[in-house]
Amino acid sequence: MDLEARLVTVDHVWSGRWLGPHVVRASDAGIHLLGAPDAASGGLPHLRGTLLSPFTDSHVHLGLVDPVALGPGGIGRVLDLGWDPDEASLWPEHGRLDDAWPEAQVAGGLLCPPGGYPSRAGWAPSTASVEVADAADAHREVRRMRDLGASVVKVTLNSDVGPVFGDAVLHAIVEAAADVQLLTIAHVQGVGQARRALDAGLLRFAHAPFSEVLTDDLVDVAADGTWISTLDIHGRGRRGPTHEIAVANLTRFRAAGGHVLYGTDLGNGELPVGVNERELRALERCGLGLDALLHALGSDDSLDAGHDGRHWSRRATWIPSAPPTGELDEGRAAAWLAEATVLTVDTLVAAAAD
Ligand SMILES: [Zn+2]
Repeated sequence: MDLEARLVTVDHVWSGRWLGPHVVRASDAGIHLLGAPDAASGGLPHLRGTLLSPFTDSHVHLGLVDPVALGPGGIGRVLDLGWDPDEASLWPEHGRLDDAWPEAQVAGGLLCPPGGYPSRAGWAPSTASVEVADAADAHREVRRMRDLGASVVKVTLNSDVGPVFGDAVLHAIVEAAADVQLLTIAHVQGVGQARRALDAGLLRFAHAPFSEVLTDDLVDVAADGTWISTLDIHGRGRRGPTHEIAVANLTRFRAAGGHVLYGTDLGNGELPVGVNERELRALERCGLGLDALLHALGSDDSLDAGHDGRHWSRRATWIPSAPPTGELDEGRAAAWLAEATVLTVDTLVAAAAD
């Protein structure tokens, strides 16, 4: 395919903000936003609808789903938060080589105390639980995850199911992650564990807390951090007590200035593979409008190397209609976003030529 055939025009572009009509170049190096169309771009193939930086699900378990089903469902990037570390270490490379896959970043294993969650949970292979008994284990295992290509360190703190780390080991893990410049993401579950995580400096949560309604002072501390939403795992569309607690906490966290990322815990039970409209509707209930939902569907800035506002990698999310405008009824933004599919450098050109 020659270079000229790889330029297309599109009416609506989102890349951290609305950019208006654009000329887009798709090449092996990725997708570039070149700027507003001019007289010379009149003859280019036109892509109808809206092109967006690839939607990210910031909490998945690729080992439990079919990764190639994510693209048709609109998800172009994922953060895998726990699996057998040797197996997971192959996924970022797989995502680079195979456009049918999502781009993938991984945590590797889940650091837990001996016998702690999820070592007896059954949903993950036993090798996904990386047991850490003391500070020496913490440093060794964090380095092992880093050497295997992890982008984050996943820590569990779940007093509902088994023992949890004491403060000394928890601090050692935080220190070990800082030593190798990895972010930590904590699974926090059980009354009192959110406070313990925050006291230890764990500011990124894999789930909006659902075990208790947090106090105002705790929400204020938490608001310096990032929560991955996962609201729909509680009841999957039915609004049970844990769902309502998570919604109440996330609403206040966001109002206090906390950073919210869209994540579904994909692989945890029956969830749609791709954009989960119910998750987005729950986020609407927490006060997120269309632009806030789009920000949540981005990825953590700290993990975003190579994704500046004008240059994406080899995938984009596409919604074949214009964004809804004006005052939106509840559910309207979620419904529009759920129409998304992923285009790659090849399918983008084909979609524009149709
Ligand atoms: Zn999970």
